[in-house]
Amino acid sequence: MGDLPVVLGGTSLRAGKAWPRWPQWDAAERAGLLGVLESGDWWTGAGTEAAAFATEMAHFHDARYGLAVTNGTHALEAALVACGVGAGDEVIVPALTFVATATAVLAAKATPVVVDIDPDSLCIDVDAAEAAITPRTRAIIAVHVAGAACDLDALTDLCTRRSVQLVEDCAHAHGTRWRGRGVGGFGSFGTFSFQASKLMTAGEGGAIVTNDDTLRARAQSYINCGRVEGEHWYHHATYGTNLRMTEWQGAVLRAQLARFPEQHRVRNDNARLLDGAIAEIPGLRPQGQDARMDSQGRYCYVFHYDAREFASLPLDAFEAALAAEGVVHDVSYPSLSRLALFRHESYARTWSVPRAERAASSTVWLEHRMLLAPSDDVLDIARAAARIHAHAGAVAREAADRRAC
Ligand SMILES: *Cc1c(COP(=O)(O)O)cnc(C)c1O
Repeated sequence: MGDLPVVLGGTSLRAGKAWPRWPQWDAAERAGLLGVLESGDWWTGAGTEAAAFATEMAHFHDARYGLAVTNGTHALEAALVACGVGAGDEVIVPALTFVATATAVLAAKATPVVVDIDPDSLCIDVDAAEAAITPRTRAIIAVHVAGAACDLDALTDLCTRRSVQLVEDCAHAHGTRWRGRGVGGFGSFGTFSFQASKLMTAGEGGAIVTNDDTLRARAQSYINCGRVEGEHWYHHATYGTNLRMTEWQGAVLRAQLARFPEQHRVRNDNARLLDGAIAEIPGLRPQGQDARMDSQGRYCYVFHYDAREFASLPLDAFEAALAAEGVVHDVSYPSLSRLALFRHESYARTWSVPRAERAASSTVWLEHRMLLAPSDDVLDIARAAARIHAHAGAVAREAADRRAC
């Protein structure tokens, strides 16, 4: 066989071929940065870039209002505080997410209650969320994992019936649409991140979107030192802090948003192609997608891995074999239930979330920049996986030998 995997001495399919880099920028970001520099208006109190970006971001997702903040973690914190979440309250969060979804609850002085996920889409299990509601529950944070929309029909219905606020953590889901509407505006708030790995970036940054004017004003006050719009500059009515974005970030993000629709289209087209190719390989299955989602922001390309179809090759050894082929992978988040943070005495909690724990050790997370390559390059990902599958027995023996050393 001339098609040996690289880990068994074969030649990489990707030899001499590079993936697109991330982040991407051009003269638009440069002009934006220079414009801010030369205006002398470097903070949001003086300039207009961050505020204009936040409004453009909100409108792009069909929400009325947008606020620009320091990062996605602070966006969640401000959204929760503006929802009235505070000491003694509980906030329901899914187990398979970045730690910030839970630590933002702690920052709002409330208690995260971690619930299990749907094993196919990896998003919050709405029945598990309902079962976890207590008289102290103030909000549910729904994370659109790797851009796959949560069941927003069921979540909005649940939150209305039980008088709980819905916050969408859209840190992975720039551009995701549910039944024709952008995510972020289905509940009280949606939050976005513009950290370096995300689908739009200024290195760091965050945004909050909402359709509710009262909630907008509360969040605006919290991120701007407790100020009240229309009142004296040093009138501070409630506790707030400084979570303002800089004008530099605003200018860069306006350029990133202008470029986004075309990148989003390319990623969606390539991901659909890759879904078909991945689904043909025994033991691999693309992340589940609800048919009501029209379009998916692809923070990562995720697929399920069943080691039984790969001669029991452990997930990390499969990922290493893929990496040797030149496929750039990330790793799954661990389930929140496994974090040392939640074993610490002041936060110690135990949650039963077996599906999230299983998903964390049976899903492959690939970097989104590969989806910006020409389609035939993107199919190299499936070719590499197919190669490893065809030689799974030998790859598994090699991995076991290496481990035994
Ligand atoms: C990145 C991320 C955040 C936090 O965003 P930062 O800008 O890094 O603070 C929150 N939730 C999820 C799901 C994320 O991936």
